[in-house]
Amino acid sequence: MSRVFNFSAGPAMLPEPVMRQAQAEFLDWHGTGMSIMEMSHRGKEFSQVAEESEADLRQLMGIPDNYRVLFLHGGATMQFSAIPLNLTRPGDTVDYFNTGAWSKKALNEAKRYANVNIVAEHTTEIPDPSTWRLSDNAKYVHYTPNETIGGLQFHTIPDVGDKPLIADMSSCILSEPIDVSKFGMIYAGAQKNIGPAGIAIVIVREDLIGHAREDCPRLLDWKVQADAGSMDNTPATFPWYMASLVFKWLKAQGGLEKIAEINRRKAKKLYDYIDASDFYHNPVRPEDRSIMNVPFTLADSSLDKVFLQESDQAGLKNLKGHRLVGGMRASIYNAMPEEGVDALIEFMQEFARKYG
Ligand code: PMP
Repeated sequence: MSRVFNFSAGPAMLPEPVMRQAQAEFLDWHGTGMSIMEMSHRGKEFSQVAEESEADLRQLMGIPDNYRVLFLHGGATMQFSAIPLNLTRPGDTVDYFNTGAWSKKALNEAKRYANVNIVAEHTTEIPDPSTWRLSDNAKYVHYTPNETIGGLQFHTIPDVGDKPLIADMSSCILSEPIDVSKFGMIYAGAQKNIGPAGIAIVIVREDLIGHAREDCPRLLDWKVQADAGSMDNTPATFPWYMASLVFKWLKAQGGLEKIAEINRRKAKKLYDYIDASDFYHNPVRPEDRSIMNVPFTLADSSLDKVFLQESDQAGLKNLKGHRLVGGMRASIYNAMPEEGVDALIEFMQEFARKYG
């Protein structure tokens, strides 16, 4: 068996020890003679997985006691709808930063339920706070700390006064420590830094629970799910279990401080190389670049196809950029080993030498 370096934006690489453990206990979970996939979500075995996963996530992220943690269906996209349905009434105003494709999807969905005010807009730099147009009466302020497609990242938490700050952390959750107490609600689809696709994590401050609209679908109501321990209906047990293994792996790595150190080093190497070369280019202002998703273009785009073919043959997979922006993108989440980034840089050097 040989494993490749997979730079996909998601579903993305998972830590190998996690997959080995899942494989080893796939048919017989802890001597029960059953797979975790075959067990009742209400049984004592799965309850243990659910409880431990929440405790581990709370420890990793330092989640304060006045926040609830939910493991839900529907990915991050379902929360695009759940957020306005839980926090607004028709006619209310909500504030959204628009820093790229995912911000835009979130705000377009919110427009179906509330009046959306755009605070600031830019896709290659984080707009200066002096230009922000926050509204006085917004029910919340939403932003996308890391734009997975554009590779643009907020490296400081925006100061939005006393309004609940809501963050789509799909592509940066667990990549570095954050101060959860600064947020009203955080959400993330799993398939980058949490586990396989099929689950989303919601971390929501208690005072924001219990205000859903009358017509909010039951499963989108955070109160229903918080009261039911995320089990109002059958949860996605297997992705939840895999997430629990990823949390244990992260703890064993030394937690988020340690993983952040590695992540920053990986990203810096790659950006340093791109900046030093006149063959490759990244369009994002250096201080606002993502440490998880590194888009880059080739000076001669007619070489894109060859680059993708040859990198693929070299075991460096899924480097094609998103169709909205073209070029290349290397997603280097927690599970991408540093050797993967080293191998990519080496390949890029060699490619530039050959075709430059
Ligand atoms: N937000 C961001 C920032 C993302 O990167 C993605 C997925 N790439 C999504 C939302 C959508 O996630 P899901 O497919 O889990 O709904």
